[in-house]
Amino acid sequence: MEKNSIFIVGMGPGREEMMTGEAVQALEQADVIVGYPVYLELLGERFCQKKLLSTPMRREKERCLLCFQEAAKGKRVALICSGDAGIYGLASLMYEIGKGYPDTELIVAAGVTAASSGAALLGAPINHDFCAVSLSDLLTPWEKIEKRLRAAAEGDFAIVLYNPSSRRRKDYLGRACDILLERMEEERACGYVENIGREGTKAVVCTLQELRNREVNMFTTVFVGNAGTEIIKGKLVTKRGYQIE
Ligand code: SAH
Repeated sequence: MEKNSIFIVGMGPGREEMMTGEAVQALEQADVIVGYPVYLELLGERFCQKKLLSTPMRREKERCLLCFQEAAKGKRVALICSGDAGIYGLASLMYEIGKGYPDTELIVAAGVTAASSGAALLGAPINHDFCAVSLSDLLTPWEKIEKRLRAAAEGDFAIVLYNPSSRRRKDYLGRACDILLERMEEERACGYVENIGREGTKAVVCTLQELRNREVNMFTTVFVGNAGTEIIKGKLVTKRGYQIE
């Protein structure tokens, strides 16, 4: 018997031009597209003739289960996540839940994550060793987040901060900056990008001290440079170490 399959699709930051061809193909061949309502809306008219199913925020498990239920009916299912589904997305939860569905095959279609799309707008802020830290403590204890921030600073990584803020966590970016400021200078080159690939895209370059006092929203990705990151013509540039003269 042929296995049911579910595509787990990273749709990129928003606009269709920023979706990978593989992701577009997976969505085109799907009968059912499952996702968070905002992302289904972002898909726009092109896919609105498909069956669209959603569950609200914090109902991610139910969203994944819905995929397996639809696949069991013989439907071609695509689950969409913003950016890349394997970076703070639902790919891993799908594999975990998938243990209970041995007849269903999972195929991940890569997407452009906010670290890449945001970096492109700011210049080249993660062009050397970097790490990503999510400031959301919904699924990770804050103590662990602090530990990772300190370790990232200690390792002189360029840092990408996902989930820097939400209605409930307005001061988290400030708290994260305070931890970084234990080891970094106030003038450390930083930047942030709001609404990548969507209406109202905004990219800002600033110092770590300035970042500390900025209010950002949940559609923002924050970049903290390493010790050598430079601002060149208004762009944030983390060098690789080439000698140019
Ligand atoms: N899977 C996604 C990340 C989901 S976590 C990815 O790979 O990009 C949600 C966080 O991602 C947001 O809080 C924000 O930090 C970042 N993000 C996702 N889409 C974004 C966008 N269009 N503009 C800016 N930041 C974005």
